[in-house]
Amino acid sequence: MVEEQIQQLQSAALQRIEEAKDQAALEQVRVDVLGRKGSLAQFNVGKLAPDERKVAGKALNTAKQTLEGAFETRERAFASAALNTRLKHEWLDLTLPAPGPRPGSLHPVTIIQNEIEDLFTSLGFTVLDGPEVETEYHNFDALNIPPEHPARDMQDTFWLANGHLLRTHTSPVQVRGMEKLGPPLRMIAPGRVFRNEEVDASHEHTFYQLEGMMIDRNVSVAHLLYFMKTLLSAIFHLEAVVRLRPGYFPFVEPGFELDIRCLICGGPGCSVCKQSGWVELMPCGLVHPNVLRVSGIDPDVWGGFAFGLGLTRLAMMRYGIDDIRLLASGDLRFLRQF
Ligand SMILES: [Zn+2]
Repeated sequence: MVEEQIQQLQSAALQRIEEAKDQAALEQVRVDVLGRKGSLAQFNVGKLAPDERKVAGKALNTAKQTLEGAFETRERAFASAALNTRLKHEWLDLTLPAPGPRPGSLHPVTIIQNEIEDLFTSLGFTVLDGPEVETEYHNFDALNIPPEHPARDMQDTFWLANGHLLRTHTSPVQVRGMEKLGPPLRMIAPGRVFRNEEVDASHEHTFYQLEGMMIDRNVSVAHLLYFMKTLLSAIFHLEAVVRLRPGYFPFVEPGFELDIRCLICGGPGCSVCKQSGWVELMPCGLVHPNVLRVSGIDPDVWGGFAFGLGLTRLAMMRYGIDDIRLLASGDLRFLRQF
C-alpha cells in the first residue's frame, strides 16, 4: 500500500522533472519532493508495522536515488544548453582577415614643409637644419641687430640661464649656412621657433617657419619675386598674385612685406583680408651688406635675397584652420582629417 503510494509519487515527480523549463523550475520540484517538508518526507516509516517498514524503507530509498539521478541528468542538460547559447554569441570567424595596423597621417605643417622642400630642391636649393637652442650672436648680432636695437624687444625671447636662447626665427640658419658653405648659396631652412607669448587662437609660443636665401652675383628683387610667385603658386595650386610693400627688417636692405592677393575673395575685399584684397604673408628683401660681411662674404662681389615664411600660418591659410592651438593639440580627431 505504502509502496504503491511511493511509486506513484516517484512517477509524478519524474514527470515534473522532465517538464521543468529551466533551472529555477527544477529547483522548485526538488524542494517540493525531496525537501525537509517535501512529499517524500511525509512518509513516516517509523509508525509502520515491522514487515511493512522494511518494504516501505526500501521503496523510499529507491525513489530518492531515482529522483536524484533524474535531477542530475536534467541539470546537466540545462548547463549544456546554456553553454551552447553562450558559445553561439561568442562565435568568432577565424577566417576573417586581421584588422592590421591603423594608418596614420602627416601633420598639415609637415605636408606643406615637404612640398616646399621638394619644390626648392628641384630649383637647386639645399635644405639646411640648425639648432633650436641658439647663441645670441647667431639669433641677433650676426643678423645686423645691434644690442640695443628694438628688434630684440619686439621678439619676446625665451632666454636660457647660460645666456643662450630658444631661437625666435629660422634666420640664424642663414648665418650658419653662409659660414659653412659660402657663396654662391641657395638654401632653405624649415624649423621650429619659439616666442615668449600669450597663447590664443592666433598666437602660439611654438610654431614653424621656413627661411630661404639665395646668394650669387647680380641677384635682384626680380629674382626674389620670381621665386616667391613660384612658391606660392605651387602651394595654393593657382597663379598667385603678389605685391611688395616697403618693410623694415635689420637684416635686409631694401626690405619688403610681401602680400598675396586674397585667396578668399580674389581682390574685391572680405573679412579675411580686412576689405583690402591683400593678405600680408612674409618679410623678405635683399640681404644687408653687413650680414654678408659678418659671415665673411664680400658684398661688393656677392648679393642675395632672403625671405621668412610662416609655415604654420601657411598651413592654416591653405586648410582654413582658424585656431593655431589645434596644430599642437595632439587631438587625433583633428589630425585624421589630413
Ligand atoms: Zn578677401
